[in-house]
Amino acid sequence: MELDAIKGIGPKTKQILNRIGIYQVEDFVTYYPYRYDVIKRSDIHALKQDDTIIIDGIVETVPTISFFGKNKNRMRFYLSLDGYRFDVIIFNRAYLRSKLSISTMITVIGKFDKAHNRILATDIRFEALEGIQVERMYHLTDGITKRALNQYIDIALSMPYQVTDYIPEYFQKKYQFLNKEESIIEIHHPTKKEQLNKARARMIYEELFLYMLKVNQMKKARKKTVGSAKQIDEVKFQKFLDTLPFSLTNDQRQSIFDIKKDMSSPYQMNRLIQGDVGSGKTIVGLAAIYISYLAGYQSAFMAPTEILANQHYETLQNLFCNTDIRIARLTGKMKAKEKKEVLSKLQSGEIDVIVGTHALVSDDVVYFNLGLVITDEQHRFGVRTRTGLTGKGILPDILSMSATPIPRTYALTLYGDMDVSNIKTMPSGRKPVITTICKEKEIRSVLEAMWKQLHEGHQIYVIAPLIEDSENIRNDTEKLYQNMKKAFGKYYQIGVLHGRMKATEKDQVMEAFSENKIQILISTTVVEVGVDVKNATMMVIFNAEQFGLATIHQLRGRVGRNDLQSYCILISNKKTERLDILTKTTDGFQISEEDFKMRGSGDLFGERQSGDLIFKVADLRRDFKILQLANQDSLFYLEDEQFSNKKDMDLKKIILQNQVDRG
Ligand code: ADP
Ligand code: MG
Repeated sequence: MELDAIKGIGPKTKQILNRIGIYQVEDFVTYYPYRYDVIKRSDIHALKQDDTIIIDGIVETVPTISFFGKNKNRMRFYLSLDGYRFDVIIFNRAYLRSKLSISTMITVIGKFDKAHNRILATDIRFEALEGIQVERMYHLTDGITKRALNQYIDIALSMPYQVTDYIPEYFQKKYQFLNKEESIIEIHHPTKKEQLNKARARMIYEELFLYMLKVNQMKKARKKTVGSAKQIDEVKFQKFLDTLPFSLTNDQRQSIFDIKKDMSSPYQMNRLIQGDVGSGKTIVGLAAIYISYLAGYQSAFMAPTEILANQHYETLQNLFCNTDIRIARLTGKMKAKEKKEVLSKLQSGEIDVIVGTHALVSDDVVYFNLGLVITDEQHRFGVRTRTGLTGKGILPDILSMSATPIPRTYALTLYGDMDVSNIKTMPSGRKPVITTICKEKEIRSVLEAMWKQLHEGHQIYVIAPLIEDSENIRNDTEKLYQNMKKAFGKYYQIGVLHGRMKATEKDQVMEAFSENKIQILISTTVVEVGVDVKNATMMVIFNAEQFGLATIHQLRGRVGRNDLQSYCILISNKKTERLDILTKTTDGFQISEEDFKMRGSGDLFGERQSGDLIFKVADLRRDFKILQLANQDSLFYLEDEQFSNKKDMDLKKIILQNQVDRG
């Protein structure tokens, strides 16, 4: 069902929702809370205007319902308790009416309007949650409020949606899972702790089972299919390596060697280049592109953001300038005519390498002879996109590059399908970024340190803190901009970068920063991946305690990208041991192990950190046992012929077509 089916969702909201992976009404239904907050029962003798309240009571009148708008409704009834009587109003829960017969004992959660003795309810529960109640928390994104999102989800739940249950009956019975419909309702509106746990376990299993099924299926398929053995001219290849402006590190050399071996074998390559931020993965990707080119094939280079895609495009143009490779890019903001031209050249083979974002996998992109697909920061794409590309006609070799070190145990399962090359050493001459922690009241010394860098002609990133007002969680770039302007505005240019900006605006700011037209860039975590501005030598992160260690490590990787000494200042008023590790090591592996170990299941972020997780409900650290189970079960499923009833056959078909839904 289209999102338009819900009143109030216009094109703008749609765009925002797309960002958090919501494309249709059904996606709301499976947009699960990442956390539940406990709320305590109110003392009805002490209620004040606008209190958030939670009370148990008895339904006293038959609910009346009025419908309005496209598919909204309002339900109203009286609730009594201890001789008090409240007027209860709740929106979009008409489907609950049959359960609200007179004398039913219920729990109502909502806001108290004392003047009218009315409760504007946000939720109604039928079974007490062991004396306490919970409020569901969903991941938000800039531009959408908690209230609006809750509301859309409830509307979606009240609509006739369809969900597909992917757990084969055999396992459903074996583990006695709740069914999917029940589980969905329970997850959005929990009734009991055990019931909620059961519902979650079911969802986690399904998610991991599907994921492992896809991974293992791809693994099987790859081992069977014979791709193209690429023939390359060794002399030309060596000459290309010799023209590079720097000499490669040993690990870069080894990675390129691995790739060359894979690509000249008849089996499809599926290799992951794992290397910390700044270790120089891009050049390895370029070498692969050159191999593909020498063998007469096209390559596609996919980046997670436009900014990064543009940056790669420029790198390619620079480093391939002595070759005949024809390079093009495909971006979202391209004019239709321009795009058409690129597409037609791609199809006719007049382009050798194309750089872009997800656009490269859309259906209208047809390749002449795609021989290599590179995905940068590959964990951001998920299996679906990767298979989307692989499904484009021939069997291209696949190279993935990631700076997110996945702890070994998880890597085995998650990247079970890939061969891995590690780049462990940094290019020579790099100085580790000096990281310090400061309190906000020490801001003076931070500003002084900033002055010093600026004075030396260097540039600075400032990462805005997350703020949570009553409605929203977002990065507070505006206030920071004003403050920075006060301090530096007279002498230096300051730019702002955040997720709500248009792609063109973002690019402009990024370009100005890389050309040193802007000296201070205030930003959200948008700059997290890949951006390469060598002259930036300092990063200041406000409210650092709000960010995950891995995220800070990634952010910090934006500086220290040449032989200048760089600095990272973490501003945090809370004393946290967690941040200390960042001052002690720049080893991404160690940091991510610590991060996995220490972080609770609830992510501190309002924004969904797609860098960490491709899962909606599963948490690899917490759910590792289920992951192993799902892995075994998926292998069993792929091998075993006993799965023959209709549902299982359908599932098999879907997997074979590589068209499993998002998730
Ligand atoms: P990442 O692994 O984070 O993607 P990049 O590929 O962006 O890292 O490389 C970081 C920077 O290091 C780039 O500016 C790149 O030109 C430079 N670089 C890469 N390899 C070397 C090398 N062997 N010697 C010196 N500089 C290098
Ligand atoms: Mg990179």
